[in-house]
Amino acid sequence: MIKETLQKAINEQIVREMYSSNLYLSMAAYYATINLNGFANWMRVQAEEELTHALKFFDYVIDRGGKAVVGAIPAPTIEWKDEIKPFEDAYEHEQKVTNWINELMDLATQEKDYALISFLNWFIDEQVEEEKNTSEILDRLHLAGGSKASLFLLDNELKTRTFTPPTTNA
Ligand code: MG
Repeated sequence: MIKETLQKAINEQIVREMYSSNLYLSMAAYYATINLNGFANWMRVQAEEELTHALKFFDYVIDRGGKAVVGAIPAPTIEWKDEIKPFEDAYEHEQKVTNWINELMDLATQEKDYALISFLNWFIDEQVEEEKNTSEILDRLHLAGGSKASLFLLDNELKTRTFTPPTTNA
């Protein structure tokens, strides 16, 4: 059985992961409106990935004999000023998520919940990837410096991203 305080903290994280999913889906919609369909695809895949994160936490609470609560999800932004801004926001958002995961880890450590610490390790590693992926694309957008040709090439590259469901801790 999981402690009440930890259950509450994980349930809050479920909402944050679902918010992340909706935020990226909203970014996908924005990119589709400016005909950057590769960027839209990348964001859509990212949204799917975030939903699996939410489900991982959801299943975990239940597996530990707790009650998963799906709370209200705040509405994400729907407009950005240019094609760079969503990736600036995405990178910033992922750093925030890393902090939340770290706070969960602090709490699990404080409560000596070794099973939760083990579960959270996957997310600690995942956040390294998430920050790297978003910052790399942001760097390349800055490098493109508004060149339409570079943007077109990057858009084509981002079209190839496909969704692969995570296999660990499923
Ligand atoms: Mg996530």
